[in-house]
Amino acid sequence: AKAAGRNTHCFYEAGMSARLASRNRLELDLREAVSAGQFLLHYQPALDLLHPAVSGCEALVRWMHPRQGLIGPGEFISLAEETGLIARLGGWILREACREASTWPGDMRVAVNVSAVQFERPGLEHNVAAALAVSGLAPHRLELEITESVLMRDSEAVLACLHRLRTLGVRIALDDFGTGYSSLSYLRRFPFDKIKIDRSFIGEIDKPETAAIVRAIVGLGSDLGARITAEGVETQDQLPFVRQKGCQEMQGYLLSRPLAAPELRRFLARTPEL
Ligand code: C2E
Ligand code: CA
Ligand code: CA
Ligand code: CA
Repeated sequence: AKAAGRNTHCFYEAGMSARLASRNRLELDLREAVSAGQFLLHYQPALDLLHPAVSGCEALVRWMHPRQGLIGPGEFISLAEETGLIARLGGWILREACREASTWPGDMRVAVNVSAVQFERPGLEHNVAAALAVSGLAPHRLELEITESVLMRDSEAVLACLHRLRTLGVRIALDDFGTGYSSLSYLRRFPFDKIKIDRSFIGEIDKPETAAIVRAIVGLGSDLGARITAEGVETQDQLPFVRQKGCQEMQGYLLSRPLAAPELRRFLARTPEL
């Protein structure tokens, strides 16, 4: 048993160092990728449920890895945050999203995810203002999505920064609502333009308890002057619930997966019927 224990231990250590090595490798690759511009954005449309039309798209970053192919953000965003690389990557994401959105028809908005780390570094406001200026995109067509982790820092500096961003004319959305520990308290701190209900609620919106929570969030949103988006709507069955509970907007695989820019153009050319 002792020998087995030792073996397990060695095995465990080998596993650890293999993971460390692959993390280090990934970090080196990521550094290189930021300089070499190996990223691209996909765009997931959102549907306005009141006046059925695409109201905007969320920009979602992908890494075109030279050997591993397309890598999703779940595999590199936290590493980019830990290493500080998110500052440069985030700047590029803002510029690219605004540039692309400036080619979209009408008043279609683009939503850009901004990580908590980007708020801790100087330059976010400058990056936003520069992305708008260079692209010529009207500020109200840019929406910044933040999660509670941004507000959890509980700093006056973050709130002041959000207010200054708002003064530029940019909209601010609270993402993944309902997944944090004390969601409601954050609603008092900042007047969000939009609240996005996390897809874990939408996935079980047919349950009476969940439906009641969604209805309550919608009520809260309308009292606070925020629009409500249902995230992760995947099936036709979920749609009547989402409408009935009063969500103003929906996003999810039912409407469309995130699309590369040329695919999005084709998607917009045919009117979605839902
Ligand atoms: P998120 O901001 O909550 O984005 C929504 C994620 O859910 C996306 O995954 C999207 O592809 C996926 N999704 C959309 N509709 C559905 C659906 O109907 N069902 C299911 N199961 N999933 C759906 P993705 O692109 O892998 O992004 C994951 C997360 O990575 C994002 O979650 C966001 O937190 C982060 N992320 C993505 N792009 C960026 C970025 O440009 N900057 C930063 N800081 N974070 C990003
Ligand atoms: Ca988001
Ligand atoms: Ca989300
Ligand atoms: Ca999420």
